[in-house]
Amino acid sequence: MLNDKDRIFLNLYNDKGSDVVSAQSRGDWSNTKEIFSKGRDWIINEIKTSELRGRGGAGFPTGLKWSFAPKELGSRPHYLVINADESEPGTCKDRDILRFEPHKLIEGCLIAAYAVNAHKCYIYIRGEYFNEGQKLQNAIDEAYQKKLIGKNASNTGWDLDIFIHYGAGAYICGEETALLESLEGKKGLPRLKPPFPALIGLYGCPTIVNNVETIAVVPTILRRGAKWFSSLGSPKNTGTKIFCISGNVNKPCNVEEEMGISLKDLIEKHAGGVVGGWENLKAVIPGGSSMPLLPKNICETIKMDFDSLIEQKSGLGTAGVIVINKDQDIVKCIARIARFYKHESCGQCTPCREGSGWMWRMLERMAKGEASREEVDMLMGVTQQIEGHTICAFGEGSAWPVQGLLRHFKKEIVKKNNFKPLISKNKNIPYLVDQHLLEKENA
Ligand code: SF4
Repeated sequence: MLNDKDRIFLNLYNDKGSDVVSAQSRGDWSNTKEIFSKGRDWIINEIKTSELRGRGGAGFPTGLKWSFAPKELGSRPHYLVINADESEPGTCKDRDILRFEPHKLIEGCLIAAYAVNAHKCYIYIRGEYFNEGQKLQNAIDEAYQKKLIGKNASNTGWDLDIFIHYGAGAYICGEETALLESLEGKKGLPRLKPPFPALIGLYGCPTIVNNVETIAVVPTILRRGAKWFSSLGSPKNTGTKIFCISGNVNKPCNVEEEMGISLKDLIEKHAGGVVGGWENLKAVIPGGSSMPLLPKNICETIKMDFDSLIEQKSGLGTAGVIVINKDQDIVKCIARIARFYKHESCGQCTPCREGSGWMWRMLERMAKGEASREEVDMLMGVTQQIEGHTICAFGEGSAWPVQGLLRHFKKEIVKKNNFKPLISKNKNIPYLVDQHLLEKENA
């Protein structure tokens, strides 16, 4: 369990006040000028040394991303863009930062903007977070009044203006290039990459896009030192993380914990355990709905960090932990998720546009017990034709939950649809072998 002294977000439950005075009493804005005085290179190096990885889902090293911004300012201005379009089902961590710890984010914006040579910062908030956006705007106004941002921000000699922009509810605008398109006033359609935003981003200018939580932890890392941050967790999976635990748990919550905490501890110690007890657990989606689920046997021992979850063919994603107990129909659950992705596909790529609908329709049939045996293999085939064949990672995000279902719960589909068992001649293969394996064997 994380020691209180190592906690970054001290007002995660809004019991200490989110205004600037309360934030300052917790240490925010305390020595911003001193951090600036160490220079841009020191800041970037310190963030690299801390091994902070992006908290928005992809886990890309933050310091490295910042170093992609051109060193010198050319004819085009640089921009810092904060992705607050938190739309991944099961995820609500940025929401609590926006409304309860806005000054951590604003101070992080100032430092990050300096590090990447930007004088303008845009915070792109999902439209549904209207109240959170208002709270953030109040905090930005406070920061202007106290001269913490604006001209000669915090007496550092650096000018920074921060603007909030509300999205209109499209999930895909959380993809960084779709977000930039939307910010420019266009439809939120992901761009082909390269070029990457660090060179050609907002209005064709160098732009660094970071998640809310990533930027909000930066001031504390620089204050307490990269070594402190990297002493938490394990190498390449360092620091603390806000986990959102929802679904069939007794006490759904957001909690800041050390990276690498066991999933079982997270559920049992922080979320009051699985409804019906641990033995009633069926599966967990560990990182927001786009990550493949894990069955109970893996949940017993899995550690919650980027690399441990990749080893189990899943991912930490946004750390939105969705717990599913045995009272749920797992095929229906994934069919519901597939419907969400079908609805949110932007439609630019054929595999994603068509495939997401195919997956949803097949899963609906499977959930109702109306599918044919061939569809089980076909469903896996569709996921593989989407994965890696699209403009943006949404393709994977829609295919992976379905792959997780097929990997771990194929038997449920077989049972629901009353498929007769396929018998292999090979005694070592269990009776539920895949159709294509049996066809190969009989050929
Ligand atoms: Fe749009 Fe899907 Fe292609 Fe992404 S993968 S660009 S969401 S069609």
